[in-house]
Amino acid sequence: KDFRNNVKPNWCPGCGDFSIQAAIQRAAASAGLEPEGLAIVSGIGCSGRISGYVNAYGFHGVHGRSLPIAQGLKMANRELTVIAAGGDGDGFAIGMGHTVHAIRRNIDVTYIVMDNQIYGLTKGQTSPRSAEGFKTKSTPQGSIESALAPLELALAAGATFVAQSFSSNLKQLTAIIEEGIKHKGFSLINVFSPCVTFNKINTYDWFKENIVDLEEIPDYDSSNRVMAMTKLMETGGMLTGIIYQDKTKKSYEDMVVGFKEEGLAKQNVKITEDEFNKLVAEFK
Ligand code: SF4
Repeated sequence: KDFRNNVKPNWCPGCGDFSIQAAIQRAAASAGLEPEGLAIVSGIGCSGRISGYVNAYGFHGVHGRSLPIAQGLKMANRELTVIAAGGDGDGFAIGMGHTVHAIRRNIDVTYIVMDNQIYGLTKGQTSPRSAEGFKTKSTPQGSIESALAPLELALAAGATFVAQSFSSNLKQLTAIIEEGIKHKGFSLINVFSPCVTFNKINTYDWFKENIVDLEEIPDYDSSNRVMAMTKLMETGGMLTGIIYQDKTKKSYEDMVVGFKEEGLAKQNVKITEDEFNKLVAEFK
């Protein structure tokens, strides 16, 4: 199936987000999905535009709120494959409350964070992923805060799928997204996605020099949470690959007692116009 549409992305030439768009399209096709069986929900930021750049259902939500929308969609229609996507500012600053609770809830949503370690859309301010000492217009003397460690935090929150990749490694990125889609539970995929316009520190070359592929680590066991945490800490969070996966835990929607198998979207809800209007009036 072709997940490309005819919308031309307005990202800057060379932006890492192009590869993530391509990887989602390839992974969805490889996983055997149909365009009408996939929904992509995004937040606000350069990365937020991605929901309009894939031939599937798209929902461009508000800042930091892609996950509440994505979880609602999944609960209403379990047949839908739901991907949420957004930047590190969107997911790890304003949206962090949602991120942590979606992780521990283990609802079957694939969350792709396009991590460029800066705010790009607003022209280059320090983000939660910027390193200490990082100089931008918002921190001209260098950031005095530590960078967030999202994958360690996800493991501590009980994540069942934690992965990381790099825009330049399309093969790995596509394979990871496909595995994330197939995972029955919440999958967090952090993707190093360079902002070539505003981040002159964390460039493609910088990532190539600093990334540690877990295939280079002998006897790495991705079902071992302690090993995952240890290796992440040893590499300063620069590990790429499927870092941790627990295939045994049930997803949230499979555990909700009394919730109809098919979800609300598939139920034959009979309601008269008067009843509908009364219901709407209650929320006015
Ligand atoms: Fe990409 Fe940065 Fe341009 Fe935004 S500002 S489109 S993140 S390169």
